Amino acid sequence: MTQDTALLELSADVQAAYLALTPASAAWHERASRVLAGGVSGTVRYWKPYPLSMMAGDGAWVTDLDGRRYVDHFLCGACLLPGHRNPALMEAIAATPQHGSLLLNDVLSCDLAERVQAMVPCAERVRLLNSGTEAVMSALRFARAFTGRPVVIKFYGTYHGQGDDMLFGLDARDRRLGAGITDAAVSQTRLVPFGHPEALGVALAAGDVAAVLLDPSMHHCGLWAGTADDYAAIRDAAHAAGALLIFDEVISGFRLDAGGAQTRWGVVPDLAVFAKAFGGGEKIGAVAGQADIMAVADPARTTPGPFAFQSGTGNDVRNSVAAAIAALDFYKAQEASGGYKRLQSLAERLGNGLSQAFAEHGIGCQYNALGPMVRLFLTAGPKTLDHCLALDPRALNLFHLALITEGVLTLPGSNDFFLSFAHREDEIDHVIAAAGRVLNRFDFRAITEPAEGGHHVH
Ligand code: PMP
Repeated sequence: MTQDTALLELSADVQAAYLALTPASAAWHERASRVLAGGVSGTVRYWKPYPLSMMAGDGAWVTDLDGRRYVDHFLCGACLLPGHRNPALMEAIAATPQHGSLLLNDVLSCDLAERVQAMVPCAERVRLLNSGTEAVMSALRFARAFTGRPVVIKFYGTYHGQGDDMLFGLDARDRRLGAGITDAAVSQTRLVPFGHPEALGVALAAGDVAAVLLDPSMHHCGLWAGTADDYAAIRDAAHAAGALLIFDEVISGFRLDAGGAQTRWGVVPDLAVFAKAFGGGEKIGAVAGQADIMAVADPARTTPGPFAFQSGTGNDVRNSVAAAIAALDFYKAQEASGGYKRLQSLAERLGNGLSQAFAEHGIGCQYNALGPMVRLFLTAGPKTLDHCLALDPRALNLFHLALITEGVLTLPGSNDFFLSFAHREDEIDHVIAAAGRVLNRFDFRAITEPAEGGHHVH
């Protein structure tokens, strides 16, 4: 039997198990497909044969329309770092409507920005806005305005939101993600391989680069974060070439440390962008940065220099700002009580337990764990960015679909295991046991690499 035939057979078995357990989601998706494009409100919310619809979340758990409960490792795209229905956030949101939902130049925005200033090293000034995408877009505009240069350097394998100019080089290749993105849109985005200082030097040499944009968690392609020395070298190279360093902290912010990646690695960028955990599940983002650069967004600037327009109707909507204040206070308390260290060790326990489960079934599995995040690679190795980027994702996607049948939610296709502060050892052990049951029930060996030193007998 070829690998492709084995994959088809296994896929049919897993899908049959999934269909049998999730009829209400199947019915919902049929209805949703008649009105929402593809039945969903975003590409990553979809997977084959149809995605689940959830009706409630509670701590580390979610419940679907059939009433089945899952340990939630998706957390709505990593937004829910405080956990579902975190009491502090719920209270903060409940307290806001009595003053109205949106007020002109609300004092709450100051309360939030002061917290960001106190927690994030680069945040001399802050601009609040709606999403990670908008934050990246605005930070790039500020950098271009400040330097008077057009080009932005992006690393292969990174995701920086859905700006046309950023939907480019999401894997190891110079290709755009989907149709509708023009040559012009990507013409000022220069792709560089991560971990190759010479290539970065060449890309900076023309003197036309406004900023080097980096997600310090290297999340999208599998959590291949560098070291403090790597990040200091990237900053120094950017500065030597007259370019700014922008950290995209949409994933790393408030997650790897209460002060984000810049605190964890001690490398302070010129600008940084935040979203996701920043709002703890509410819609909000921010650009933060050095005062002289952020001055480009100051409509009343008195110092000479360029002005860059940035505005948004919902930039400081009260529910979101109030939730973000509560979230940041919650993260500070977690930092003080060792919560970040606890999550880091839970992530190691999860990565270790899952790769052990594969090893016990003779299947090669490596993992990366970074802060409260884990990524699996179905290979005996080597564990390198280049090797793992080239892996066929199909077996792992099927494993994630099979995990759903055992009460674990991750998205097949994005393959993240995100942890929230509501996750405990019990949940992690539930997930490891679920993986064991999946591997007992479904034979993944025909479509995976053997564990190191072993060989599969088919
Ligand atoms: N940057 C990074 C690193 C992200 O992971 C994301 C979202 N996954 C974004 C930017 C875009 O954020 P949003 O979805 O809020 O627009």
